[in-house]
Amino acid sequence: MQKIRDPSRHSLTKKLLAWYHANKREMPWRGHPDPYAVWVSEIMLQQTQVNTVRPYFARFMARFPDVASLAAATDDSLLKAWEGLGYYTRAHNLRKAAKIVADKHNGVPPSEPAELEKLPGIGAYTSAAIASICFGVPAPVVDGNVIRVVSRLLAWPDDFKKPAAAAKIRDWLAPRIRSVESPGDFNQAMMELGALVCSPKNPACGTCPLLPHCAAFRDGTQEEFPTRPLKKEMPVRHFAALLLRDSEGRVLLAQRAAERLLPGLWELPCGETSRPATRADAQRVCASLLKNSPPFVLKRGRPVTHVFSHFKQSTRIFVGSVDSARVGELPPFFAWVPDVSMLPLTTATRRALAQ
Ligand code: SF4
Repeated sequence: MQKIRDPSRHSLTKKLLAWYHANKREMPWRGHPDPYAVWVSEIMLQQTQVNTVRPYFARFMARFPDVASLAAATDDSLLKAWEGLGYYTRAHNLRKAAKIVADKHNGVPPSEPAELEKLPGIGAYTSAAIASICFGVPAPVVDGNVIRVVSRLLAWPDDFKKPAAAAKIRDWLAPRIRSVESPGDFNQAMMELGALVCSPKNPACGTCPLLPHCAAFRDGTQEEFPTRPLKKEMPVRHFAALLLRDSEGRVLLAQRAAERLLPGLWELPCGETSRPATRADAQRVCASLLKNSPPFVLKRGRPVTHVFSHFKQSTRIFVGSVDSARVGELPPFFAWVPDVSMLPLTTATRRALAQ
């Protein structure tokens, strides 16, 4: 078997950093001296791709340029700035954490990973990213990109969803990140290599600075790492949603309650059904929400599918024109809205209104 060169700390980190400085992408938060900006970008990047985050980051920073403005944000302004980015718990936690940073840390996030992890929404990955990039702390980041690079480099077959396996990667990275002058660059280089070169399919090994050290390349098994445990089929939940407009062009919307998924966002009135929703299902939903209202003619619109982390939501839209004067008293949190552009909407609702 062909021997691979030992990925000694020095040669590996030197090649990696040289590649990074020559190939890194421009990003609005990169080279930003402000820990707040890096923190916001890292929270946005937790479940979202870089290119999607770019415009959101610019808009969010213009709306909330510092910790104090974010700590004072209202629900509607916060959710409006986050609208469409998904995983709204991130936004709620970011504001909670901003309040703590404003009150207890003079408006500057703490530099130590352990202190950062006491803030809502900050786990091991984000604390290591902020501490290394903003404060030069040699804390290795372990995200999906890094796991892919290291598991291929060393041909490690572990299930990296398990904390012990992720810790094994952190332990391997620790002496390497400690050996460099700029731990933030080291972490970003590993992530950038995973994003740009060591991609899940067809990695561009020919351009990879770590090729001479890579066991998976030597064996031709790159795409076998990281190993993936079999995925369970995602359950589908069905909903009937009502797109009701009155004669003044106002739309009937409902605000999601605090204890539900996506709290505070506005959506079309809807109800869950046990199958792909039919017009009869929609009439039932309508009657249960708008009691004592005359029956409306509901036209079947197109379905909208949205994937959450643990289920798929399939929503069939039913469209109707109604006389709001005859609808009677609305349930709590329902309103006829003349201009939906100012409200934070769920993704399914934005898509339905765009139909
Ligand atoms: Fe990934 Fe290929 Fe580089 Fe190995 S040689 S780390 S598989 S890009």
